[in-house]
Amino acid sequence: ASKQKGGNCFTYFTPRMQEHAELRMQLSHDLRVAINGQQFYLEYQPVVNLQTNAVHKAEALIRWQHPVRGMIPPMEFIGLAEDTLLIVPIGEWVFKTAIEQCRQWRESLDAKFQVAINKSPVQFAIEHKRHYDWVKQMLDSGSDGSMVVVEITERLLLDANSQVSERLAQYGQAGVQVALDDFGTGYSALSYLKKFDIDYVKIDRSFVRELGTSNQDEALCRAIIMMAHSLGMQVVAEGIENQRQLKLLREMGCDFGQGYYFSRPLRPDALMTWMQAWQQEHMVLSR
Ligand code: C2E
Ligand code: MG
Ligand code: MG
Ligand code: MG
Repeated sequence: ASKQKGGNCFTYFTPRMQEHAELRMQLSHDLRVAINGQQFYLEYQPVVNLQTNAVHKAEALIRWQHPVRGMIPPMEFIGLAEDTLLIVPIGEWVFKTAIEQCRQWRESLDAKFQVAINKSPVQFAIEHKRHYDWVKQMLDSGSDGSMVVVEITERLLLDANSQVSERLAQYGQAGVQVALDDFGTGYSALSYLKKFDIDYVKIDRSFVRELGTSNQDEALCRAIIMMAHSLGMQVVAEGIENQRQLKLLREMGCDFGQGYYFSRPLRPDALMTWMQAWQQEHMVLSR
């Protein structure tokens, strides 16, 4: 914005902005160090099949263990990583780490296990320019495409060019599934849903939060589920925090759920412990 104001921009440069700019510079420097310094790690949040209680998926969520500032959540550095293009090596690291983890889980636990990986629209754009191809890399390394669900957002599809369509088609051919994250928060246009091969719609947390107290949110969830099902997609509800929300979503026929009610995102070892406890509690009894 300051650029548009031309030569006057420094008049608007307050001490607070100065501080903000310095913090960004410091953090972007730190981000570079973090990539080589192994300061990133992934947590995984289980995705529960609401109809059977089975768990065959987990969403990978990045964390940055900063040596001075402590744990920094993704919302506070993904934007900066995009602006500095560091999102490319970071995204590559996320991808490799999650694939390797999933390969281990498939061997030790469940041959059908899947990891969901988040990908921002900026990542798509930059990666294409750099000819960095996820799918090819995965298939070359002998991994099965069906172990990955890529989470994208509505914005990507709204501005979709032929490169995006091409990339999504590649995913489909490789067996990689696609989920539409934060559904309902972006745009009201729905026509793109029939243009692309989307496997899952993820109902945004903001619609789940008031379930049981807001009739409007209940109507919205019901409508999203019905629409998704009639277009051949499955539905994942985000941010389930209590029994009341879970019960309603189950009744509405929602396919999958994630949220603190089941589990927070966990390190791989903790996820295994959680899975064992979950299976003992739910799967054995239901037989
Ligand atoms: P998202 O993909 O929509 O992920 C869901 C967020 O909701 C996660 O926050 C998760 O920890 C949180 N969450 C899960 N269950 C609950 C719940 O019951 N209640 C509440 N209040 N929150 C819940 P997190 O891990 O901070 O991630 C935030 C966002 O950062 C993600 O939103 C995603 O857009 C982005 N992100 C995370 N990891 C990556 C990554 O590896 N690459 C990219 N490009 N983006 C990422
Ligand atoms: Mg996500
Ligand atoms: Mg989401
Ligand atoms: Mg969300």
